[in-house]
Amino acid sequence: YFRRLEQGGIHLNKPQIAAVRHHLGPLLTLAGAGSGKTSVLIARTGYLLSVRGVTASQLLLLTFSNKAAAEMRERIALLPGVNESDVSRLQARTFHSFFLYFLRRQGLQQEIFSETRRQHILLKQIMRELGLPKDAYPPETLLTVLSTCKMNMGTVEDLPESTIAEQEMKAVLRLYEQWKTDHFKIDFDDVLLIAYQMLKDRPRLLSDLQERFHYVMVDEFQDTNALQYELVKMIAQPRNNLMVVGDDDQTIYSFNGARSEFILEFEKLYPGAKVITLDINYRSGPAIVGLGNGIIRHNQRRRSKTLQAARGTGSQPRYLRPQTADEEAEQMVDFIVSEVEAGRREYRDFAMLYRASSSNRALLELLLLRDIPYIDYGEGQLLYEHWLISPVVDHLRLSLNRRNFAAIENILPTLYMNREKGMDHIRRMEAIQPKQGPLIHLLSLPGMEDFKAVKLRERLDLIRGLREQIPVLAIRQIRKQFYDYFIEANERHQATLHRETLKEMLDELEASAERFDSIQTFIDFIDNVTERNEHSRQSGLKEQGDRIALMTIHKSKGLEFPVVFLIGASEGILPHSSALEADRLKDRKSVAGSSSAAAAGLALAALEEERRLAYVAVTRAREELFISSPARHRGKKADVSRFMLSAFRSAAATAAAPGSTRPGSGHRSAAVVTAKALPAARATTGRTHTVPVWNCTGASCPGWTRMKAGGAEDHLASKPCPLCNSPMEKSTRV
Ligand code: ATP
Ligand code: MG
Repeated sequence: YFRRLEQGGIHLNKPQIAAVRHHLGPLLTLAGAGSGKTSVLIARTGYLLSVRGVTASQLLLLTFSNKAAAEMRERIALLPGVNESDVSRLQARTFHSFFLYFLRRQGLQQEIFSETRRQHILLKQIMRELGLPKDAYPPETLLTVLSTCKMNMGTVEDLPESTIAEQEMKAVLRLYEQWKTDHFKIDFDDVLLIAYQMLKDRPRLLSDLQERFHYVMVDEFQDTNALQYELVKMIAQPRNNLMVVGDDDQTIYSFNGARSEFILEFEKLYPGAKVITLDINYRSGPAIVGLGNGIIRHNQRRRSKTLQAARGTGSQPRYLRPQTADEEAEQMVDFIVSEVEAGRREYRDFAMLYRASSSNRALLELLLLRDIPYIDYGEGQLLYEHWLISPVVDHLRLSLNRRNFAAIENILPTLYMNREKGMDHIRRMEAIQPKQGPLIHLLSLPGMEDFKAVKLRERLDLIRGLREQIPVLAIRQIRKQFYDYFIEANERHQATLHRETLKEMLDELEASAERFDSIQTFIDFIDNVTERNEHSRQSGLKEQGDRIALMTIHKSKGLEFPVVFLIGASEGILPHSSALEADRLKDRKSVAGSSSAAAAGLALAALEEERRLAYVAVTRAREELFISSPARHRGKKADVSRFMLSAFRSAAATAAAPGSTRPGSGHRSAAVVTAKALPAARATTGRTHTVPVWNCTGASCPGWTRMKAGGAEDHLASKPCPLCNSPMEKSTRV
């Protein structure tokens, strides 16, 4: 079998072969990124089918995303000894898809209620019915609360209710669950929970499943939550031919209930379990593998392992230090376009990874403006369209035109805390003033309470005053005068995730506005990108096709790309500010009475999860890796990510020439001149791009690169490497 595999170009190494040949009993393969865990799982499927005479329907393969499951089936189909009917009978699915399939076969007829937008509308409706403002709790938060509860095998009745907010959320969610029951619907989270309860209550059903699946295999085991793990254990019994593969260093779904301790627990639960480690990375060259090792070795809570690269050579990771996220986007997009136009690469070779989905604002805008094909694996919504941000933009719009009816309508919740009341008001206004009237007419309404009139007049004064401001100052004023207060004052916005997110988005809005010197140009820009986004949404983004991939690091798990750009590798972005905040507050918490050890533990856990994210990101790259650390993040100075710096230090410690490197020093001085010009101003098609690139000449330096497209920024070369102070050497990529 292995010879046939080799004839097909698959040369497995010894431990990989041992894992593939493993036949009966539990097996744990714990190994670093790119070491072939998924490949082994696939090859073992072929082995069991063609050598061990197992039938395809006896196999169950579980993974995390539909993309991964589809890839698995495709790769299995190509193996020697596997025929088409095997593939069609094989269960290689995500947890959800498999258990839904199971429930359907049991006669479950409920419709899946999965469309996020409809869930949100329903939740808002329920809030209104309960007399809560429609925007009282963000639907995202409500759904996460419910989902987390179910992942731990609880129901809505198990939710806490010690604070008013908790009681209100519970009441909303109770009605949400009731609505689903009444309308014969279930959502994705219900699928696993219902399956679990069914299997527990009906032993015959469980034993049928156990009879059917003789072999169970789970990929990305480190990210299983309690409920998924229970299900797997139940089905695998009594044979326990259970193979799990994973990497504790890639646990990045803790917020989703993933517990890497399950890996340790696995060995306790199955004392005889075979354990195979793989330590050769086949994905990337030695420099990238070394960087991954250098990053993750600083985590305390992990099983120590060091990966080695199978390949002897490969390109060095390159580090960029743009001034802002906009300049970052420009440098990368310039580079990609130049590579594609020179015929060296296709768009689909590139992936842009970022920590938070809100970090792709600059990138999305630029790609839209330049008409470059991309696929966004996120929500596909622009910052300006977000329901919390659009009212701020609409204040700017009103400063230009106080008759903008849509804008008036949209700012109502910020005036009334309750959109419905506001709409009532507007309707009455319309009755008096049939034409769409300016905001000021609201004041002429009969029966307007005094305090409301005062508030409204203040707001009108504010809007009037904005007109002459530059946009960033206008936004700051809106925030200062009422918006931050609006958020703070609204008790129900206490859900911290929400407040944090809002603050981040507002900061990002300011960062975007900073590029414009009049409200009109800013609004024109927003309209332009919004329209383009709408257009690209309508034209339907197909998975296929030659497109740059944009995704959060979370979504990139298990995937690989020829060229990876990790953007936003700066303090406050990665590690995320929330983790830094936890770290900063841990001592203060101890004063406030809670245990300082507990606070420190949580802070460490948060930081270590951030580091794992950095590790996952850099290990996605097959050939080239760019790491970009903007010097400013939303208006504030941002150092290079500590994860990169500590990795440089490890690299420098093992470097040959002592004394010649000064890792981490002087990165403050690294500056690339910000292009004031609007990105849109530069047409890109139809001309050749020259991208001057400066590389560090330091022999033992991990390498630093500066790129600047199409300009005469030769003076940059006079700045030394920010890592080791060596001179920079210029080369040009056309
Ligand atoms: P991750 O932790 O990111 O999920 P992984 O451990 O699942 O990674 P794979 O995706 O299976 O790793 O493999 C990484 C790359 O290495 C793939 O391109 C795969 O084809 C290749 N690969 C795996 N094993 C070998 C081998 N023995 N020889 C050559 N290439 C291999
Ligand atoms: Mg994998």
